[in-house]
Amino acid sequence: MATYDRKSLEAGSFINHEEIVETLAQARAQAGDPALVRALLDKAATFGGLGHREAAILLQVQDPMVLGEIFALARRVKEHIYGRRIVMFAPLYLSDYCVNRCAYCGYNHDNQIPRRKLDSGQLEAEVRVLERLGHKRLALEAGEDPVNCPLDYIIDCIKTIYSLKFENGAIRRVNVNIAATTVEDYRRLKDAAIGTYVLFQETYHKPSYLAVHKGGPKRNYEYHTEAHDRAMQAGIEDVGLGVLYGLYDYQYDTVAMLMHAEHLEAAQGVGPHTLSVPRIRSAAGMVAKDYPYLVSDEDFKKVVAVLRLAVPYTGMLLSTREPMGYRDELITLGISQMSAGSCTGVGGYAHEHKLGEEESVPQFEPMDHRSPSDFLKDLLRGGYIPSFCTACYREGRTGDRFMRLAKTGQIANVCQPNAMITLQEYVEDYGDQELRDLAGKVINRELASIINPKAREVTETYLQRIRNGERDLRF
Ligand code: SF4
Ligand code: SF4
Repeated sequence: MATYDRKSLEAGSFINHEEIVETLAQARAQAGDPALVRALLDKAATFGGLGHREAAILLQVQDPMVLGEIFALARRVKEHIYGRRIVMFAPLYLSDYCVNRCAYCGYNHDNQIPRRKLDSGQLEAEVRVLERLGHKRLALEAGEDPVNCPLDYIIDCIKTIYSLKFENGAIRRVNVNIAATTVEDYRRLKDAAIGTYVLFQETYHKPSYLAVHKGGPKRNYEYHTEAHDRAMQAGIEDVGLGVLYGLYDYQYDTVAMLMHAEHLEAAQGVGPHTLSVPRIRSAAGMVAKDYPYLVSDEDFKKVVAVLRLAVPYTGMLLSTREPMGYRDELITLGISQMSAGSCTGVGGYAHEHKLGEEESVPQFEPMDHRSPSDFLKDLLRGGYIPSFCTACYREGRTGDRFMRLAKTGQIANVCQPNAMITLQEYVEDYGDQELRDLAGKVINRELASIINPKAREVTETYLQRIRNGERDLRF
């Protein structure tokens, strides 16, 4: 039987089942100790994060008063590190061919649905719509199918996307969410200049993993769980983890995801760049309510808040799987990146924006249907500053260099002006008068909050240059 070793490269050691079970048992025994819970909150308030055993104790909290304190502290940590910025991104589905049989997914190989993948003209149409919506940062999504959707095709798509230039600019960062693969293939993705490589674990609980991954290469739990190590060995510095909440007990999966983060830091020298926290939704061939581990809204808020306390410097992503009002609540608890106006089917953007393409079956049903512009307005009304920044990756601030800046708080010195500059760009290129007014107030507030007069002056100059027609300025 494997023993727990966070530095080991074997899934059974760094995601060690016995360690998780023992962690949860100890947490249940200790959660009733108010002095211990208080000490953990005090520790988290120093922005140094929490270990998986500590986070497990906070996940046990049920007392509404203490939960209220956890939420308030998560809010404080988030605002200290991220200010009031929310980075925007959009998913782009390239292909729904898939050889895997994941029970929770509309693209499950067993589903008798018409399949398609984008040809180069269709890809250009999708990217044109995304650019018209103002997006600069994409997350590419594709099912796994070495015949219909080989890596060559994905790489060609990435090259095409980076090469397209429209009236108001181009897509500046392409993150990729595709199946686990070999070190050699990850090298090819790295050479294609991807941003973050994202791979969701779905669930870390192996029996549950095997129960829902009924066939196909993804069924290999170890190969899948060790994929981020291979990606990092290939030189990809920014990787993203994710759990599909609802497949197994949320406490087990949250503790395991934190162990995975600790493992990457110990074994590869840098932790994950992002965590994603989707909750299961109905899709073709499955109904979400049939899953016994669905996470309630209240418990899910606790998950987001505890993750924010545990890994304060790791970006946390939320998709349109969550409905409108609830997404707004989750923002305050720790979410730092959000999608808006998302289409979750191949060809969805061109279809929705009436460019004549047919949309295929979506991977899941989105719950938030606001357009990016309406979503931005809601964020601005709430006092947040939407950001279309992609600067770090393009300035070489990746991997441990990025984490050093994040952990010393220096990253905020570039995040804040970059948010203002990219929002000003959005206003100039896509905004109506209402957005212009709302954004103007928030940008002025942010500008006034820059303490260093020199930094404030340079930011002001950049904002004016954007108003005068320059684009893609960044710190
Ligand atoms: Fe294929 Fe991914 Fe869906 Fe599984 S989750 S069926 S691998 S697209
Ligand atoms: Fe993200 Fe870097 Fe831009 Fe900050 S400056 S929003 S960390 S890309």
